[in-house]
Order: sequence, then C-alpha cells, then structure tokens
Amino acid sequence: MEDTQYLVAVVGAGPAGLFGARELARQGAQVVLFNRDIKPGGLAEYGIHPHKHFMKESLRNQFRQILDLPGITYYGNLTVGQYGDLTLDDLRKLGFQAILVTTGAQGIKRLDLPGEDLDGVYLAKDVVFHYNKLPPYSEKPFHFCKKCAIVGAGNVMIDIARFLIREVQVDEVVAIVRRGPAEVKFDKSEMAGIIANLDLKALDAEIERVSPRMLAVGQDPQAAKDMILESLPTAEPKESDTLFRFEFMTSTANIIGSKDDTCLTQLEVDDNILVMIDNGEVKSQKSGKLRCLDLDNVIFAIGDKVDDGFGLPVEWDEYIRNPDPCYPIKDISYEAYDPVTKSPIKDVFMGGWARQASFGMVGYARKDGTNASKAVWQYLQTLSPIQADLAEIKFKVFNLGKPIITKENIKHLEEAEKQEALKLGEKEFKFASNSEMLKIIRLEGTLVRN
Ligand SMILES: Cc1cc2nc3c(=O)[nH]c(=O)nc-3n(C[C@H](O)[C@H](O)[C@H](O)COP(=O)(O)OP(=O)(O)OC[C@H]3O[C@@H](n4cnc5c(N)ncnc54)[C@H](O)[C@@H]3O)c2cc1C
Repeated sequence: MEDTQYLVAVVGAGPAGLFGARELARQGAQVVLFNRDIKPGGLAEYGIHPHKHFMKESLRNQFRQILDLPGITYYGNLTVGQYGDLTLDDLRKLGFQAILVTTGAQGIKRLDLPGEDLDGVYLAKDVVFHYNKLPPYSEKPFHFCKKCAIVGAGNVMIDIARFLIREVQVDEVVAIVRRGPAEVKFDKSEMAGIIANLDLKALDAEIERVSPRMLAVGQDPQAAKDMILESLPTAEPKESDTLFRFEFMTSTANIIGSKDDTCLTQLEVDDNILVMIDNGEVKSQKSGKLRCLDLDNVIFAIGDKVDDGFGLPVEWDEYIRNPDPCYPIKDISYEAYDPVTKSPIKDVFMGGWARQASFGMVGYARKDGTNASKAVWQYLQTLSPIQADLAEIKFKVFNLGKPIITKENIKHLEEAEKQEALKLGEKEFKFASNSEMLKIIRLEGTLVRN
C-alpha cells in the first residue's frame, strides 16, 4: 500500500535516542522524538563539562542534522511515563507501533546513609546539571563552602572537582575512593584539568598509608602513583589555590550534622581493606575502623539508575530486559520484559543509558541507540506499515496544556543563544531557565495551541 510507513516513538533525545531515530528514519520509519527537556542532546548537552566546547559543538551539529531529517518530528518539554504528560499506553493509542525508550539514567542511586538530606550534601547529577544550566537545577542555589568531598573515582568525580577547583575555587577538594589507587576509574587524561592543584605531598602520604594493603593483594603502589600522575606533563594551568587530594580505601559510613541538625559538619568514614576474589578482581571490604573528616560539602558521584517511576519493570539499577530476546543484536537484548507475566513487552525496546545505566561515553550511547533501533526495525518487519496520522499526534501533544517545543523552536532558540554569546564575547551562552527559553521562542504563557 502506498503512503504507509512504520510509526515509531523514540522517548528521550540524548545521543542514544537521536542516533536511534536517525537509524529508524533511514530505514524508512516515521519517527516522533519525545524529550523531557526543551533542548535535545541529553547529557551531551547537560552532562559533558562546558570546557569541552569543541566536542559539544560538534555533537550539536550532528544532532541538528538528525533533527533536519524529514522522517523525524521533535516534541520537547514533554515527559513520557506513568506520571508524565503521555503514558506508554497513550502512545499506543496514538498508533505508535513500537516505542524505543532512550531516557538515560534519571533515577537516584542512594547509599541510604543517615544525614543524606542535610544541607551541603548533593548528588553529582544535580551539580552537573547546575553548572551545565539545565532548568530547574540551573536556578537552584548550591552552597559550596571551604572543604568539599566527592565520593567516587570516575570521570564525573573529576568533572565536579574541576568545577570546584576552577570555578567555585573552594579551599580543599577530597576524592573519597572505596578501593585503592590502582582501581580508580577516571581516564588519566581527564586529570590534566585538575592535576596542577593535586597536593603531591598528600598523595605521597596517602600512597604510603595504603601501601601495606595494596602489597597484601600483590599491587605495586609506585605503579599506581605513576598512573595517577600520568597527565602531569600536560597539566592545564592552575587557576586557584584549591588543594585536591585523595582518601583511598575509604567508605562513607555516616553524615554528621550540626547541633541543630541542619547542615553537614563531618563525614564518618570506614577504612577498607582490599580482597582478591576468585576471578582476580580486587574488591573493597570495610574494616570497621571508623574516623571522621571535617567537611562542608559531600557530593555523591556513584553513578545513577534508571527512572523507576517510568512505568517499566526495574531490577537493581536497570529496566528488566527479555532474557531470551527475539531480536538480539550482537547477542544483546534491547527488549523490555514483564517478570510477572514472564513475557516480553513486545512493542517496547530500550537503548543507551536506559539499557545500561551510567555506562559508557557518547560514542557508546550512539552505537547502542543505533543497535536498539535495529532490533526495533526487525520487530516492525513482523507488522504491516500503517498510514501514520501525524496531524492527530500533533493535535494531542499541543493540547496537553503546556508549551511544546518543535524543531523550528530549537533553531530559533539556538540562534538567539548564539547572538547572546557574540554580544558577550563568550564561546557559549545558555538561557538558564525554561521561562527565558520559552520567552525567546515566544511560547511563554502559551498553554494550548492547535
Ligand atoms: C557528568 C557527565 C559527564 C560526561 N562527560 C562525557 C564526556 O566528556 N565525553 C563523553 O563521550 N561522554 C561523557 N558522558 C557520557 C555521555 O553523556 C553519555 O554516554 C550519553 O549522554 C548517554 O546518552 P543517552 O542518550 O543514553 O542518555 P542521556 O544523554 O541521559 O539522554 C536522555 C534523554 O532522555 C530525556 N528524558 C529523560 N526522561 C524522559 C522521559 N520520561 N520522557 C521523555 N524524555 C525523557 C532527557 O531529557 C534526555 O534528553 C558524561 C556523562 C556525565 C553524567
């Protein structure tokens, strides 16, 4: 039949969703991208540190080309999910034959420590969203004082340390690392941005402190130290007197508040030992030897989980996937699964950080979103194409009672931000609130449009 196409909803316009949408549009599907944020890009826009301006611009250019494809419609400022503007069933009723979920890892992973709600205790994602100007985090007050700890040993820890050292310029930043210097997870090149502030004496003392525990599992303390210092020759110039140091083999035990129990004053930590498990991997184990660190802020950079309020079954940090996939791509299952009925949710697929929370870089999310789309395409081959009613979908979304953002709106907003950056002589400018963005694209106060 002529004029028929497969109709697919892609939920989430981060790298996985955008590249997934491109793959489906290339195959000939009609794709509608629904995105919670006004702007597309996900963590490529709101996660990657602003100093990687060139990389971010190059990604934005690729995203613009994708949104320009005729088979792709974009609706931003629209949340899908059981508590969202549209549920998965709403999408089905609108005629979508398959739904690709690429919503990233929006859930919160907590250690469930006493004191987690005290003033001065933050989640990495909130801080990252704040300095990357994602509303509403861009507008929330964050109070960073003299001594800040970041719990974690990955690239996000380094990004936040960079922000605290170069922009906030606090007195001291301490990275609290569960395992030892040989197990840190950040890319060594990322250290170049903060290594000029690394307290070298403190590093020596710390390596000495944990050396017996490293030697006990056959690790070489000097080799681990050399690895951490790898980026010294390429160190970026120092911009503050902030001292950066590590506390290795340390677990958080308790967050201690002020007398009136409003803000954080200390972090109680447990010293860990290292143990070698059967596969040769090194794990940390609490020793029960507690001590306290005086601190003003603690930021947890321990990864994220998927949004368990989205409406898909979740186990641990991730949506449950069909263990026996009908459309595997390279042996990976991209299919949603209902553990109660023990059957696949046959029209729902997932890719990127929605499939594997907090896993991999943009390149990985892009590949995963593309592969997830390939699985969706295989599924679609079991159905007949339809005459998609894009006008009805448009009518529904523009009558949700909130401003909905289109591709044209995004172009307008980007142009306005470009002009503002030129005026200010900055590389980049971002409007920091939804209301400013809506004002620029002349949607503020608009609730219902046809
Ligand atoms: C702090 C930080 C720094 C990083 N730095 C780098 C780096 O330097 N280099 C690099 O290569 N990678 C970096 N990454 C990793 C990279 O950003 C991710 O790999 C990638 O963005 C994941 O893509 P995604 O599309 O799966 O999810 P995301 O990028 O998280 O996109 C998810 C999208 O879904 C939307 N969404 C969420 N919930 C809903 C909903 N219910 N309904 C509709 N839409 C929804 C969101 O608005 C968002 O647009 C960084 C990540 C973080 C956290």
